[in-house]
Amino acid sequence: MTIAQAASSPRPHEGHDTLVVTITPTGAQAYGQCPLHFAEVFQKQPPHLANRAIERGKYLHALVQRYNRALIEGDGSPLAPDEVIARVPVPRAFSDGADDETAAITYACEQLYGYKAWLDEADFAAILGAEQYVRTPARRVTGVEGAAVVFSGRIDLVALGRDNKLVLADVKASSVLAPDTLQAAPSTFVYRHLGVWAYGNDDIDIVQVVPATGQTARAHLIPDNIEAGTTLCRAMVASIAAQSFPPRPGEYCAYCAYAPECPAFAGGATLVTSAF
Ligand code: SF4
Repeated sequence: MTIAQAASSPRPHEGHDTLVVTITPTGAQAYGQCPLHFAEVFQKQPPHLANRAIERGKYLHALVQRYNRALIEGDGSPLAPDEVIARVPVPRAFSDGADDETAAITYACEQLYGYKAWLDEADFAAILGAEQYVRTPARRVTGVEGAAVVFSGRIDLVALGRDNKLVLADVKASSVLAPDTLQAAPSTFVYRHLGVWAYGNDDIDIVQVVPATGQTARAHLIPDNIEAGTTLCRAMVASIAAQSFPPRPGEYCAYCAYAPECPAFAGGATLVTSAF
């Protein structure tokens, strides 16, 4: 998933008498971690666009997109990574706000040569799409009167494996999820939903890859995961329709910007009450 997508959030908008909720992979992921965090942080305080990590992520995706487009639009022979790097402008705020051409080129080489190595090893039968934006039609939501849901998101790479499986790849700048976590992640469910709608193929693998390190994780959703994702997305629509976002304290509290104000955090499981 792209960094730009992380800044987007599902926002309800009123039709004539239907509330239409748009669910993105990152929105579903945030809601799955904690509905109150989703409402108070994800929807109200999107990541600051000048953030250095975000600039790096945007640069990585620009490089990968240029490389993939050459594969899709050309004769199938890839551009040399050096050629791609020369064609993609280096973001101004790449290195602590100062232009640092050497650091940028080193970063770009690590990422793009790593991406090429992953792609070569994956040996896909075809690359079908790059940075592809998918938006499903609105559908009524079971159990939520007067509401409809739209799924939308940008997929970094869509490829067809030699086993005819559709592969949706999410290119990451730093780390991938553990396989069990990826398997159960709400974002994985949403990506799969987008792939089924856009390509009519429900034999889908979701892959995360960090090009610089070669780290990957892969998930193929089983019926239990699909049912759990469906239940979560219905609950998310119901929450948004009712504007009711219950806190769900857990490991994510440690990273939550709303923690100082959150009653569940201040009085709950994470409060230290005794000495060791
Ligand atoms: S502190 Fe924890 S329970 Fe409270 S909003 Fe944040 S993630 Fe949710």
